[in-house]
Amino acid sequence: MTQSISRAVAGAISAAALAVAVTAAGSVTPALAAPPSAGPKNVIYMIGDGMGYNHVAGTNIFETGQAMYQTEEDEDGNVTELDGDPVQVYEQDDFNRVALSTYQHGNDYDGEAAWSDFGYVNEDVTDSAAAGTAMATGQKTTNGVLGQHPETGDHLTNLSEVARETGRSSGVVSSVQYNHATPASFAVSNINRNNYVEIGSDMINAEHLDVVMGAGHPEFDDNGEPQEASYDYIGADDYAAVSSGETEWDYVEDVSDFEALASGELESDKLFGLAQVATTLQQARSDSGELPGEHLNDNVPDLSTMSEGALNVLGDNDEGFHLMIEGGAIDWTGHANDTVRNIEEQQDFNAAVESVVDWVEDHSSWKDTLLIVTADHETGYLWGEDSDPDYTPLSGAAGELPEVGWHSTNHTNHLVPFYFKGAGSEQLMRLADEEDPARGAYLDNVEPARLLMETWAEGDESGHPGNPPKHAEPNGPPSHANPGVGSSANPPAHANENARR
Ligand SMILES: [Zn+2]
Repeated sequence: MTQSISRAVAGAISAAALAVAVTAAGSVTPALAAPPSAGPKNVIYMIGDGMGYNHVAGTNIFETGQAMYQTEEDEDGNVTELDGDPVQVYEQDDFNRVALSTYQHGNDYDGEAAWSDFGYVNEDVTDSAAAGTAMATGQKTTNGVLGQHPETGDHLTNLSEVARETGRSSGVVSSVQYNHATPASFAVSNINRNNYVEIGSDMINAEHLDVVMGAGHPEFDDNGEPQEASYDYIGADDYAAVSSGETEWDYVEDVSDFEALASGELESDKLFGLAQVATTLQQARSDSGELPGEHLNDNVPDLSTMSEGALNVLGDNDEGFHLMIEGGAIDWTGHANDTVRNIEEQQDFNAAVESVVDWVEDHSSWKDTLLIVTADHETGYLWGEDSDPDYTPLSGAAGELPEVGWHSTNHTNHLVPFYFKGAGSEQLMRLADEEDPARGAYLDNVEPARLLMETWAEGDESGHPGNPPKHAEPNGPPSHANPGVGSSANPPAHANENARR
């Protein structure tokens, strides 16, 4: 029944799209023939671009009047986290929380320096290309570079590619351009993150991607209004091919089709969704309000709707999937020091996490699925108004904009929060073996991908000895011996306590 509804809706898009939908549904992808693999069956890597602890805190104060993870400094100069109550789903007790270091190739993070010299974290900060590469490939690179080795320029295998090698499906979803640095680093490689048209082309031609969703539509401006075509983020030929159904992708752009994917009325095996807006779903629109969520573009989906649609497409693969979901414009509000839209973007991301949690509980389980909620770096040095040189908390009351201080218009090298739940959590927790004076246990942004690649490769190897896992090589030796992911869904209680100090 669903299938006939699916085709009816697809037919409404265009005759060409219908033909592709039928072809795609009838084809057998390499994923279906691959061997079983160890480690978490499904991995959902959610990244709030620029989302530091205080981006979450500011939104929590706006919603409830209080927040966790705020800091204060005593007279001896020791910085500690203040008590607070969880607000978001990922702050609840059934999630684990540690911290994550984000620095680029050749840089470092020194916790003692970060909490004694207010300016320390403004130096040598990572960008989203280097951080995305680290999270996607398990290898540090230089700012501006996507998925390539910092010295040799060699392609670094990413989690989407390893997902495909181990029989899984893979996809990327973003609230900014589909080929912006973070989604691109989980998809392809390029010497320069700004080569949008080339990166877009590579993503459209990538055999290992099953879902790509984001902004970057050539025929709409940032207010979602039609404009004379501007091929900044997708080449004219690529756009013509993908939107007319000449490629293997099923193509959607209407908000109603994104909603039909989320509800399950519209189905696809390989889906390219280009929201009808230029650079980002909402953040760059000109119509402003005094509080978050006023005068929204109404012709685009929210991140939650896109995420549900992507999960419905990827979740059909019995071997599992990898999905990266980015709240991409949190970063842009940080650069702009725009508190109203910062909360708005954070709320959009938070709602997407809630939808993902619901999807896992309705369609999968925490035994099969690992969910990570984190950031690639902090943006805007968002802290208390009276910070510098101290590290003071944000303040405010529910329903009102919080009192905040933006102490930079750039990224910082501060640790960011790293929340996770589900399959492989115990092994992930063991990686957080470094200790920050204020945030407690932390791991580095290359470590989750290394762990996942190693454990997925082990399963691949044992299943098919004749098919050695090439992807284990370029990422170098692991920094931690690990026992493999996926044996236990719940971390030990002491690890959880340790993480929350
Ligand atoms: Zn940025």
